[in-house]
Amino acid sequence: MVVSWPMSKAKILILGGGFGGVFTALELAGSADVTLVSDADHFLFTPMLYEYLSGEVEAWHIAPRYDELLEDNVHFVQATITGIDLKSQSVSLAGHEPLNYDALVLAIGGVTNYVGVEGAEEFTLPFRKLEHANNLRQRMVAALDHIPPDFAPQDAWRATTFAVVGAGASGCELSTKMADLLNDSLKRRALQGEARVMIIEMGDRVVPGMGDQIREFVEDALHKSRVEVHTKTRVVKVTADELTFEHEGNQESLKTAGVVWTGGVKMSPLIEQLDAEKSKRGLLVVKPTLQLSQHVNVFALGDIAFYPDATPTLAGTAQLAFQQASLAARNIKAYMEGNEMHTKHFEELGEAISLGTERAAVLTGGKAFGGALARQARFALYTSRLPTWHHRLRVGASWFFEGTQMKRI
Ligand SMILES: Cc1cc2nc3c(=O)[nH]c(=O)nc-3n(C[C@H](O)[C@H](O)[C@H](O)COP(=O)(O)OP(=O)(O)OC[C@H]3O[C@@H](n4cnc5c(N)ncnc54)[C@H](O)[C@@H]3O)c2cc1C
Repeated sequence: MVVSWPMSKAKILILGGGFGGVFTALELAGSADVTLVSDADHFLFTPMLYEYLSGEVEAWHIAPRYDELLEDNVHFVQATITGIDLKSQSVSLAGHEPLNYDALVLAIGGVTNYVGVEGAEEFTLPFRKLEHANNLRQRMVAALDHIPPDFAPQDAWRATTFAVVGAGASGCELSTKMADLLNDSLKRRALQGEARVMIIEMGDRVVPGMGDQIREFVEDALHKSRVEVHTKTRVVKVTADELTFEHEGNQESLKTAGVVWTGGVKMSPLIEQLDAEKSKRGLLVVKPTLQLSQHVNVFALGDIAFYPDATPTLAGTAQLAFQQASLAARNIKAYMEGNEMHTKHFEELGEAISLGTERAAVLTGGKAFGGALARQARFALYTSRLPTWHHRLRVGASWFFEGTQMKRI
């Protein structure tokens, strides 16, 4: 079907205000009747959520409000999406009238995958949103506040036992930050001993999705931050204050002050219910133009889309969603104007990972480097990727003039 009508009159509905949705909206802003729907009132630059936990960055740096980012040429609707009907071209929202569209962009991202572990959904702390970081920080402060001044080192160690489940990039970044924060705080409060932060991984190595070069820096940082690494270990049960795990057939249970779940992502129920072609993992299969095969006016990108022409390590990253947003915007314009659409191969732009409050590791141009310099490089890289030039300038100036030191707990 070839469509052609004035782009300025086209109703474009973008679902999800994360990397895919926001950057598509910013590229289309002003050229059509664009509406963005998301459940929060702010965008979140997830790669720096760890620095928000440690107080190295503030909420306004990494979570600008949509009304500031999008200005007046994109309508923003804050609501939870409850249903997507591709046949009637209508989207239902909680507490808001349904919205219709000429072209739809699906960018609602994934949800935490608890892989059926008993008690995981109820008792572990997720780490995907600003409020999750606030909850974790509070939990850490509460654990420290309960330690009396005369506690023996082994008792302080027990009282500050935290476990992070999953040793992907997220688990390693988080556990090193938590260990640095807790150990700094124990010292500052003149308490004896050190914190116990464990990372638990089913596979036989940490950061299984990353190359050996960067893994060396990660392993070194886990060691320096005194994180206890448990590989080939499976979490079997979580309760309010206890964790049970299994290693080589032996089960062990221990008391914890908190368990954080960074064990993976799965499809949102909205995508599961959608009548469209899916991959084995349940992702929406998209054409090289990002369109769904049976719905030419529907584009999908980011964590929910299976796009074959991308380096495999890019799957499920902000990098990919960010790069796809330009292609999506370009193709929506082409679709509306009846022009030829484009395709693109997406490449890995490099990897950057924060490791505790002092270090990071960066892999770029095939070379990895670590330490304090990598930490600065990562800040510079991420400033350049914030959503608008206006926001980039404000954040860059704040980091330059005010620095990025951790806020102690
Ligand atoms: C803590 C953390 C750190 C990360 N670090 C990195 C990193 O360093 N590098 C990297 O490349 N990637 C990183 N990622 C992965 C990256 O965040 C995702 O790959 C990326 O955000 C995917 O973009 P997206 O647009 O598909 O989805 P998202 O960015 O997840 O956006 C989805 C949006 O849809 C909204 N939404 C979902 N369901 C509904 C609903 N029913 N109603 C209304 N709104 C809804 C969500 O609130 C969200 O705003 C990290 C992820 C996390 C959680």
